[in-house]
Amino acid sequence: AKDAGKNKYVFFNHEMAAQLKNKIDVENILREALREDGFTLMYQPQVNIKTGYVDGFEALLRLKNYNVSPAVFIPVAEETGLIKEIGKWVIREAVSQMARWKAQGFDFKRIGINVSPKQLKEENFTAILQEILLEENLPPEYLEIEITESVVLDKTNDTIAIIENLKRLGVQIALDDFGTGYSSLSYLTFIPVDKIKLDKSLNDKFLGDGKVKVIDSLIALAHSLNLKVTAEGIEGMEQYKKLQKGGCDFIQGYFFSRPLTVQETENIYNKNFLQ
Ligand code: C2E
Ligand code: CA
Ligand code: CA
Ligand code: CA
Repeated sequence: AKDAGKNKYVFFNHEMAAQLKNKIDVENILREALREDGFTLMYQPQVNIKTGYVDGFEALLRLKNYNVSPAVFIPVAEETGLIKEIGKWVIREAVSQMARWKAQGFDFKRIGINVSPKQLKEENFTAILQEILLEENLPPEYLEIEITESVVLDKTNDTIAIIENLKRLGVQIALDDFGTGYSSLSYLTFIPVDKIKLDKSLNDKFLGDGKVKVIDSLIALAHSLNLKVTAEGIEGMEQYKKLQKGGCDFIQGYFFSRPLTVQETENIYNKNFLQ
């Protein structure tokens, strides 16, 4: 038994070492990408359920030269503090792309970007944002900031005040991954958000038979608070039909489209997804 314990200990150390090595690899990849223009954005359409056209997009970060998911590298970026610089790159790229589309006559209404808690709490986050919007000449209402509930639940850095400042600047705020934590409902009454994004896991769980009322109620609640609703991770026709019936505003998911390149995004400009 003692030997087994010893083996286990050794094994555990190996695994830890492997994880550590992997983390350092990812960190190095991120530093290289910052140095050598190694990031790119993909744009996932958000279809307006009433019109069938694309209203806006979520910008999703990718590494050009490595097949590493943001679900893996974003946490490393957060831990190492690289998220600040990477996040700034994301804002600049998304805002300038949106401004370019606008100048070219593409009438997209908004671009959503993900902002991680650490980034949001940066001393001068709002100032940086404002500066980029001015430099790129994009009216603030075209930008939607996606924040997660961990931000909302953390009251130490006066995050409510930060969000209120952002609202004053004129950008839109969406509450991302809604339904993955708990006590989700109560904070809707005091966080000044414009929209909630129903998480994939919630949709998968409740859009099945008999439970759709849960989603219907959330949509009704959001609407009663003057919030819009985007459903995320929608992969099937059945899910989409139920959301349409429940009055959901926007759909984002593989059923309509995966995240697209700039060129692909321009190609679907006039596409009606409901025809
Ligand atoms: P998220 O913000 O919840 O983004 C939605 C994720 O779901 C994206 O994964 C998207 O590609 C994926 N998705 C969309 N529709 C479907 C669907 O129908 N089925 C399935 N299975 N998946 C779908 P992605 O691009 O891999 O991003 C993962 C996460 O990484 C994001 O989750 C977000 O938390 C983070 N992330 C991505 N880009 C950025 C960024 O620029 N900054 C920060 N801070 N985080 C980012
Ligand atoms: Ca998001
Ligand atoms: Ca999400
Ligand atoms: Ca997520």
